[in-house]
Amino acid sequence: MKKTVLITGGSRGIGAAAVRLFTKNGYETAFFYRKNQEAAKALSEETGAVAVSCDVSDAEMVRKGVRDARICLGTTAFDTVVCNAGVSLQGLFTDLTDAQWDELLGVNLSGMVYVLREALPQMISRKAGQIVLVSSVWGETGASCEVAYSATKAAVIGLAKALAREMGPSGIRVNVVAPGVIDTDMNRIYEPQVMEALAAETPAGRIGTCEEAAEAIFYLASEKASFITGQVLGVNGGLYI
Ligand code: NAP
Repeated sequence: MKKTVLITGGSRGIGAAAVRLFTKNGYETAFFYRKNQEAAKALSEETGAVAVSCDVSDAEMVRKGVRDARICLGTTAFDTVVCNAGVSLQGLFTDLTDAQWDELLGVNLSGMVYVLREALPQMISRKAGQIVLVSSVWGETGASCEVAYSATKAAVIGLAKALAREMGPSGIRVNVVAPGVIDTDMNRIYEPQVMEALAAETPAGRIGTCEEAAEAIFYLASEKASFITGQVLGVNGGLYI
């Protein structure tokens, strides 16, 4: 029987590369997106993956979205869940508004909690599964002018470590991919000079690709990583060592 995977934030960037990689490797794939219906539809046509419109920061939508994804894939339990959807924000910490904080926390942390809370019970019953959460190098080191984002991404690592301990006896592995600077829409807000400086600061001398991040996600979800749980895999060209 084919394996199944649910990927959040699959319409663009790292998530879209993960959708391509999992489908290429024979997974029945469903992905969540929030608003970019055109990109979601195109990716769905390209890969055969099922696109589900679901804002992960909305608990009720997630309940329905996870149910719909299961039905579309014809499974009771996903083999793998990749929590990748995320939003970033630049600015001084002292300028952070309530709405901005609510959005960052809602998407980057609550979004993962809601998805996992819905997806895990059936995986626990089956006593098998893999979870991969996408954090960030800034969750490991902290970034000036990205304090709130860094805080949510550090929390993702705490979530994964605790969940790995709780899920171990149920045969479920939980790991984190922490990308460095990757070439996606998320970084389009930066001036070219800032991107050049970030590349220069990276020991590899360049920024990373979505495919490089997706390969790490796929590896952690694969049997090759069968004895790896509760770990953070940096895909950062040495930006954080
Ligand atoms: P991206 O290109 O901006 O794409 C974000 C994806 O998340 C899109 O598919 C978007 O859907 C989806 N999304 C956003 N908010 C959502 C919500 N509330 N509900 C459901 N889906 C939502 O981002 P990316 O760079 O690929 O980032 C992916 C992950 O990697 C994020 O968690 C990010 O924090 C992390 N990361 C990225 C970098 C980097 O340098 N790019 C570095 C470290 C960590 P729509 O298309 O519908 O908007």
